[in-house]
Amino acid sequence: MDKPTIKWIGSPNYSSPRGYKTIAIVNHIMEGTLVGTDSWFGNPSSKVSSHFGVGKNGEMHQYVDLKNHAWANGKVDKPNWPLLIPGVNPNYYTVSIEHEGKSGEVMSEAQYQATIALHRWLIATLGITVTRDTIIGHYRIDSVNKSRCPGTGFPWDRLFKDLLGGDNVLKVAVLLFTKDDFWSGYDVVVKNGNCAIFVRPTDLSVPAEAYNAEKLIVVGGPTAKHPNEVLLSGKDKYQTAAAVAKYLG
Ligand SMILES: [Zn+2]
Repeated sequence: MDKPTIKWIGSPNYSSPRGYKTIAIVNHIMEGTLVGTDSWFGNPSSKVSSHFGVGKNGEMHQYVDLKNHAWANGKVDKPNWPLLIPGVNPNYYTVSIEHEGKSGEVMSEAQYQATIALHRWLIATLGITVTRDTIIGHYRIDSVNKSRCPGTGFPWDRLFKDLLGGDNVLKVAVLLFTKDDFWSGYDVVVKNGNCAIFVRPTDLSVPAEAYNAEKLIVVGGPTAKHPNEVLLSGKDKYQTAAAVAKYLG
């Protein structure tokens, strides 16, 4: 993936590599402007920085090289983040993005498109898995002093929907519990325009592609907890077949 167009600004505030793999993207709000942030991060006495800044007009700035550690999330106070490594400065294993604006403000479309492009590029470049624990807000690391960073205006739901689904999101998918449900599921697949079909792993997890489908039809077994789910299940394959027959009309 090509790197998005990012203007190098630079900052004297960073640490040299400490040997940790970057496992998460931490999102911030500037509580100010991009121009102001350029000058604040460029000032050695501020002792703060981030890797990137995204402006309201979609302009992207970079302050710290990816191989170095920005000074964005050093303080840990009442964290709510399972991937936190005890005793290690979170700056050493995170990459940070600042966003122009004030906490609670709704992001402009240009700013949203810029930050999603930046997220996509970082995910591809750093090999980050997309989850709610690997793309986080500053408040997850410091819930006391940074509870409003990046704030309620940050578009988490849209961001995850776009990052997980992209243009390849399935309109509808069928999820089978076991192969016993195949023949019932087959008819459901045909009824839905020969849509994609998945089989549930033995640990009952839901394949990501199936979960990200706009609509998920579960044939047999328990709910997949999909927000737009059709559950066609009975106690055994016969009851499931009956539920499917009713669905097919
Ligand atoms: Zn922050």
